Amino acid sequence: MLNIILFGPPGSGKGTQAALLVAKYNLEHTSTGDLLRAERAAKTPLGLQADKYIKSGELVPDGVVVGMIHNKLTEKASEVQGFIFDGFPRTVAQAEALDNLLAERNLKIDLLLSLRVPEEELVKRLLERGATSGRKDDRDESIIRNRVVVYETKTAPVADYYAKQGKLVTINGVGPLEVINQALCEEIDAVNTSTYSS
Ligand code: UDP
Ligand code: MG
Repeated sequence: MLNIILFGPPGSGKGTQAALLVAKYNLEHTSTGDLLRAERAAKTPLGLQADKYIKSGELVPDGVVVGMIHNKLTEKASEVQGFIFDGFPRTVAQAEALDNLLAERNLKIDLLLSLRVPEEELVKRLLERGATSGRKDDRDESIIRNRVVVYETKTAPVADYYAKQGKLVTINGVGPLEVINQALCEEIDAVNTSTYSS
């Protein structure tokens, strides 16, 4: 099993890079943002509850997203080679819950890869994405800036939490997609090799 958290602010390229990594390492892509949007599209009670948070760029309550991850692990953990968590955990409480859910299954996070991108580049990228993606939270600069603030205040401490476990690696997220992908792969391969040799 290889379990990776792909971390970084909104617009840092997590979804794009996750797609490349799941294909290369045969991992299960787990994006809570995508799961929440699917619930909303299906008009489930959970999706309707999540909508008001997504609209304003605030975080959906911990219990809701942890519940979705619990379901995902129960469904998939026995049949996949590992998970890439994209956009989760978003709070330290979620990180603790994730570690517990994994530990109950004798699993753990191997690596947190954090993509570093300056705020002005994030805003530019998200507004560009908003022009085509249909995501309303990518069209409004004030919602985008709020998401960045929420990231800095509530989510960035998750990197410190995993740094204390010796699992944080920061990667420059500005530049050609292939170069960033290469840098991520080198870090994953380093962890994979040490797993095999120990
Ligand atoms: N969201 C959340 N918790 C999650 C994932 C998503 O609260 O674990 C909500 C939050 O309102 C966020 C929105 O969904 O602003 C979009 O999240 P996503 O991860 O898709 O956005 P990205 O950071 O990739 O642009
Ligand atoms: Mg995303």
